[in-house]
Amino acid sequence: MSTSRVVLVTGGNRGIGFAIAERMIADGHKVAVTARSGEGPAGSLTVRAEMTDSASIDAAFTQIEAELGAVEVVVANAGITRDTLLLRMSEEEFTSVIDTNLTGTFRVVKRSAKGLLKGRFGRVILISSVVALYGSPGQINYSSSKAALVGFARSLTRELGARNITANVIAPGFIETDMTAELSDDQQKQYLSQIPAARFGQVAEIAGAASFLAGDDAAYISGAVIPVDGGLGMGH
Ligand code: NDP
Repeated sequence: MSTSRVVLVTGGNRGIGFAIAERMIADGHKVAVTARSGEGPAGSLTVRAEMTDSASIDAAFTQIEAELGAVEVVVANAGITRDTLLLRMSEEEFTSVIDTNLTGTFRVVKRSAKGLLKGRFGRVILISSVVALYGSPGQINYSSSKAALVGFARSLTRELGARNITANVIAPGFIETDMTAELSDDQQKQYLSQIPAARFGQVAEIAGAASFLAGDDAAYISGAVIPVDGGLGMGH
């Protein structure tokens, strides 16, 4: 049993974020989720936050601090895709994905940093993707935003590693959620044919990795990229 912490999961109203929040509650942590709509799992505190807006993120943290205490474990999970091929991709389609997935993570982690330093403990967990390092046609915006999270976690590790703060990346493969339901049958078949495990992943399998990184056993792991992808990204 790990020490009970105050955990924040962004985008915790559905998909992977919801499953991570559920698992963190089962692990005995105090859990807050951000959501633009809907609610996190039973037992969590749901706060409203828009990842592209620092003021709303600030307000969400202030509410969590008042109700649960300072955030100790940050899971930056909220993210979007806006897939299209480079020649068709507008600058807005590129920058909006970067703004949510990368700059949104920056806004959240930056807002958490003082509390982590003050509490002399921190676990920063960034939800990236197998396509960050593997590449994916039609996802130049998304894969760029996700690859950048690796540099983010490693730089954070070098900045704050001596202060009992770790930063790691989880790189999920193809996980069954609303996000992947949007892919065409052909795309899904093509992905499936490349996955050594010969199946898509479940949200609970990402939650298991997040649970481990938040727990006492992961204290000496930082700057790591943990693939949870059925072997899809091997070697990348
Ligand atoms: P979903 O599309 O099911 O959920 C996305 C979550 O992010 C929702 O809670 C959504 O909130 C939130 N969100 C999106 N944009 C914003 C925003 N601007 N401000 C606040 N919240 C926002 O995605 P998944 O659960 O599938 O994915 C979760 C994470 O895992 C993402 O970062 C994704 O890139 C990553 N991932 C997913 C994979 C998969 O196969 N599913 C594979 C690899 C990585 P709302 O409901 O309000 O829209």
